[in-house]
Amino acid sequence: MRRGVQGDILAAPHEALHQYERNFGGMIRHTPRIVVRAICEQDIIHVLQTAQTNSVPVTIRGAGHSCMGQALSDDGILLVNAAAHASFTLLENGRVEITTRCRWKYVERILNQIGLTAPVLGDNLSITIGGILSVGGYGVRSVAYGAIVHQVERLRFIQPDGSPIWCSPTENTELFQYSLAGQGRIGFIERVVMRTIPYPRQTQHYTFKHTSLDSLVKSLAWLLNDAFPEEFIAIYSRAGTIVSHYEFSLQNIPANPIQQLSQGDKLQQTQVLPNISPIYRQLQITSDEFNPAVDYLIEYAQLQPFLDFIKDKLHQTCLGQYTDSFIVMAVRPPANQHPLPFEATAFGSDPIKFLVGFYPVVPKENIRALEKVKAIIRDILHLCIKLGGRPYLYGWHELDVQVKRKLYGTHYDAVLQLQQKLDPKNLFNKKVI
Ligand SMILES: Cc1cc2nc3c(=O)[nH]c(=O)nc-3n(C[C@H](O)[C@H](O)[C@H](O)COP(=O)(O)OP(=O)(O)OC[C@H]3O[C@@H](n4cnc5c(N)ncnc54)[C@H](O)[C@@H]3O)c2cc1C
Repeated sequence: MRRGVQGDILAAPHEALHQYERNFGGMIRHTPRIVVRAICEQDIIHVLQTAQTNSVPVTIRGAGHSCMGQALSDDGILLVNAAAHASFTLLENGRVEITTRCRWKYVERILNQIGLTAPVLGDNLSITIGGILSVGGYGVRSVAYGAIVHQVERLRFIQPDGSPIWCSPTENTELFQYSLAGQGRIGFIERVVMRTIPYPRQTQHYTFKHTSLDSLVKSLAWLLNDAFPEEFIAIYSRAGTIVSHYEFSLQNIPANPIQQLSQGDKLQQTQVLPNISPIYRQLQITSDEFNPAVDYLIEYAQLQPFLDFIKDKLHQTCLGQYTDSFIVMAVRPPANQHPLPFEATAFGSDPIKFLVGFYPVVPKENIRALEKVKAIIRDILHLCIKLGGRPYLYGWHELDVQVKRKLYGTHYDAVLQLQQKLDPKNLFNKKVI
C-alpha cells in the first residue's frame, strides 16, 4: 500500500492509532489496525484497489463526528478523509468544485474572501464536506435552502473497487441519489460541484420570547406557507426560556411579523440573540464523555405531540440532568429537487419539515445513566416513527431491519442490491447503519 499512497499510513502497533478509536458519540470503541490519511484522489483509489485485491475491509472516516460506530474500524483499514486545507475551484455562476476532504471552516473562509457563502452551514465547521454530505446537512438557513446535499449539482464518486465516475441528476442517477445522504454505504464521494450564494448578506433579525411551548408551536404555522425567512431557529430550555429567531432578507421582510407570529398569544420581542452554544455542551471529541446526540425530522401537524413528549422527558426523567434544551429548525427543500431517498426530509407531503434535536452529555463513568438515557431516546425514536417522522442518521438511533424498511420503503432493499453489485465481497464501509 505504501507504494501507492502519498498520505501517512499508520499500522499497529502505533500510539497514534488510539486517536481514531472513538467517534463523537463515544459509546462504541474500536482500535483500527491500519489508518491511511488520504490527501488526494489517487490515495483513495489505491487504498480501495488494494483492499479489494487483498479482501480487507475498509471504513471511511471524515472528522469522526458520528454517534454510532459508522466511522470506526477494528478489522481492516480506516481510510481517513480529513485534510487541513481546502482544494477549491471557482466555476461559473458562483458554483464551486471542492474535495470532500475539506473541513467546512476552510471552505467557508475561502468563500467569504471572494464574496460567497455556502447556502447552508451546520453549526460545527470542523466536520468534513464528505461527512456532512453522507448524512444530509442542516442549519439555520435550511428554512430557505433545504439541506446541504440539496446544493450539490454533480459529484465524483469512487466505487468500492476504486473506479471513479461522475454522477448527477442526469448521469449515473442511481449513484447520485443513493450516495448523497447515503451514509457512505455504496461508495466514496471524492469531490462535488456545489451552489453558493452571495456574502455578506443584509438581513433583518427578529427574536421573540414565547410564554409556552404551545405558543411557540402555534407561531410556527407561519412558516408553512406565509413566511420565507433566510434563517430560523427556536430553542426550548428546561429553565423556561423559549425563543424563536428569524432573519429576513431586506427584500422580503414581512409586513407585521409580531402580529403574524403571535396568532393572538402574548409575544415579547427581544434584542438578545439566542445562544446555541450551551445546547451543544460539547463540540469536540473528548474521551471522558458519552454523547448520544439525536435529531428528528417531523411534519408540522405532529410537532406539538412530539415536542410535548420530549419536554416531559426533559422535566420528568434523568434526561434533564444530561441536557437541558432542545432546538427546532425548519427545512424547506428546493422546489423540483432531484429525489434523495435517504435524506431525512424525504417523506410526507408538507413543503417544510421541522428538525428537533437535543444533545445529552453523560459522564463516562456513569454507565447506568447512559443506559437510562438510551432507553428514553428509544422511546422518542419510537414516537417519531409512529408520528410519521424520520431520525437524522448521524445520531444515536437503534434501528432494526423492520424499522429501516418502514422508514425507507423499497429504497432500503434497492440500496442493498446496489451495494451487493458494487461490492460483492462486502468490504466497503460495512458498519454504517
Ligand atoms: C457537535 C456536533 C455538531 C453537529 N452539528 C450539525 C449541524 O449543525 N448540522 C448537521 O447537519 N449536522 C450536524 N452534526 C452532524 C454531522 O454533520 C455528522 O455527524 C457528519 O456526518 C459528521 O461529519 P464527519 O466529517 O465527522 O464524518 P464522520 O463522522 O467521520 O463520518 C460520517 C459518515 O460518513 C461516511 N463518510 C465520511 N466521508 C465520506 C465520503 N467522502 N464518502 C463517503 N462516505 C463518507 C462515514 O463512513 C460515516 O458513515 C453535528 C455533529 C456534532 C457531533
